[in-house]
Amino acid sequence: KKTSLTLLGLGAMGTALARAWLAAGHPLTVWNRTPARAAALADAGARVADSAADAVAANGLVVLCLLDDASLDQALAGADLTGKDLVNLTTCTPAEARARAAWAEGRGARYLDGGIMAVPPMIGRPQAGGYVFYSGPRAVFEEHRHTLGVPAGTTYVGEDTGFAALHDVALLSAMYGMFAGAAHAFALIREEDIDPTVFAPLLADWLVAMAPSVHLTAAQLSGGDYTKGVVSRLAMQVAGVPTFLRTAEQQGVDPQLIAPYFALMRRRLAEGGEDEDLTGVVDLLRR
Ligand code: NDP
Repeated sequence: KKTSLTLLGLGAMGTALARAWLAAGHPLTVWNRTPARAAALADAGARVADSAADAVAANGLVVLCLLDDASLDQALAGADLTGKDLVNLTTCTPAEARARAAWAEGRGARYLDGGIMAVPPMIGRPQAGGYVFYSGPRAVFEEHRHTLGVPAGTTYVGEDTGFAALHDVALLSAMYGMFAGAAHAFALIREEDIDPTVFAPLLADWLVAMAPSVHLTAAQLSGGDYTKGVVSRLAMQVAGVPTFLRTAEQQGVDPQLIAPYFALMRRRLAEGGEDEDLTGVVDLLRR
């Protein structure tokens, strides 16, 4: 028998989650602040609750997928959470997640936090590779692992409730750094007779080829010796920086997205990091 559950929040992500659980045969109660968004799900078999409190009362497992942390206070103000297992997939900071766990426990609920590493079209399609980070009490995760694994994969990252949000934000931060580099690359070629659609596969393959460099960074960070296994000496890399900056200038491109990274490389070199690779930049970022 499939576990029945409640889902609060039927935005783009919540609706995708709801459809995945319904398609897998899980009895599902839903609630959304704007009721119109629940209509299509009622047609798909969901029970639509009149209030968040009614939706929470319907099941022991309650999944939240609202806009932000503040919307949880508003949505759950009148709900009795005693004995409930709350699984919060709303994006929040690690500190917000920890505070929310304490808040939930104070109201008699158990709490798991989640960070969704997927966009709505990836939900309910295991082959798309989307997954959700979970953190909080392992026993609660294990109890619900099957149900939680229906819309997307599950990756449990620890008892510290803040860790799902921290992993989520860390991965997305790296992604935005990659987007920034790609934007600079496209700006460099833009005014030339280079077709961006011909350039894009070269760029994508290069980013994929470089991605495993994070393993060297990780090994150096955990070993503490930033000169171990170095592939490209920092002294050599910093010597190349003027070439990057002059090329940007010659192409009429503002280097504002990559210049801060170069500045940190130069600072690390000045502080004696010539035989390292780029790992020392991580130290310079710590306040
Ligand atoms: P949407 O903007 O599509 O939906 C937001 C949802 O939150 C709606 O159901 C909205 O209700 C509800 N809401 C907003 N404010 C309140 C409030 N004060 N009280 C009650 N309900 C409220 O967002 P998504 O569904 O895309 O995202 C939901 C969560 O999932 C976010 O935390 C997001 O960061 C996360 N996420 C989304 C991804 C995506 O690609 N979409 C990817 C990964 C994570 P109403 O319909 O009434 O406005």
